[in-house]
Amino acid sequence: MLDGILLADKLLKTHSLEESEYKYLIDNRSPALTEYLREKAVSAKRAVYSNSVYIRGLIEISNICKNDCLYCGIRRSNKNCERYRLTAAQILQCCDEGYSLGFRSFVLQGGEDAYFTDGILCGIIGEIKKSYPDCAVTLSLGERGFESYKRLFDAGADRYLLRHETADKAHYSRLHPSNMSFENRIESLKQLKQIGYQTGCGFMVGSPYQTSDCLAKDLKFIEEFSPHMCGIGPFIPHRQTPFGNENGGSAELTCFLLSVIRLIKPTILLPATTALGTVRQNGRQMGILSGANVVMPNLSPVSVREKYQLYNGKVYSGGESAQGLEILKEQMHEIGCEVVVDRGDIKEF
Ligand code: SAH
Repeated sequence: MLDGILLADKLLKTHSLEESEYKYLIDNRSPALTEYLREKAVSAKRAVYSNSVYIRGLIEISNICKNDCLYCGIRRSNKNCERYRLTAAQILQCCDEGYSLGFRSFVLQGGEDAYFTDGILCGIIGEIKKSYPDCAVTLSLGERGFESYKRLFDAGADRYLLRHETADKAHYSRLHPSNMSFENRIESLKQLKQIGYQTGCGFMVGSPYQTSDCLAKDLKFIEEFSPHMCGIGPFIPHRQTPFGNENGGSAELTCFLLSVIRLIKPTILLPATTALGTVRQNGRQMGILSGANVVMPNLSPVSVREKYQLYNGKVYSGGESAQGLEILKEQMHEIGCEVVVDRGDIKEF
């Protein structure tokens, strides 16, 4: 007879479970099991990162996208989305402001916008690294292919975030149009790691058609791929997408999975995401208290923030915004954590 606590202890000791065991944990989670995993996850995190919380300044460089992911508000088919693209000067201005605020890590995220060729991006990355050699640059710009990843890495990019979205091939095909492939997504992640990026994968919690089998596969994938980072957040419907009337994902399940992922890989960089902060007022604190150790406040120019709507209701002010860093520091302080001025690299040991 399987038992949740026994499985949690096995995970704690071996950092590995069978896929069926991950599924069992998810299907049989109770408040007691959730709390047990949460406490173990927070201890595991503290052993590596003490009470530090790393911050990344998120710069949303473009909402123009050639893709048509069914869940995403900036998908190509959304004709109601007012499109924008930042200039190199605007991006550098964001970094400048972020640096003064204490950010030492910048994430350039955007849709798959053909304007941002390798040449243009290499120029921007080079400028950022020249002006702020003590900062890490992370890219989150979708699937670009090996050559492109390599050029951007050689130009100085340190990290790449590319959520795998789901580790179940059939599920992947229900979330994406047929011209996007699961194999390509996974292959891209392998290439990024091979090139030398600190690589991040991740998935949405509660996306349409997701089952506990899918989530168990996600966990097994994370265990085997062993990414440096993993971004997970609840799915939140966007009205102008085919999933506009679907239910969203829950903060509870997201936090439960954060704890499990922390125990799979104690050193992993794990953000308490904006989506989690959107579905729950104290979502980010909950995430940190479940094992997360990163937050990514919004550093985009205020004028474009509401245009980068992956989902409805996205929060981008207060503690979610770079300018609200003092609020975030206070929120973290209240739960015994400290926002640090640091690149926030993974601590391998
Ligand atoms: N174009 C880049 C960046 C995508 S946006 C890429 O392909 O990687 C970053 C993440 O937001 C996505 O990977 C997805 O997991 C998440 N996201 C998109 N739509 C969402 C929604 N409706 N609810 C919650 N998260 C969403």
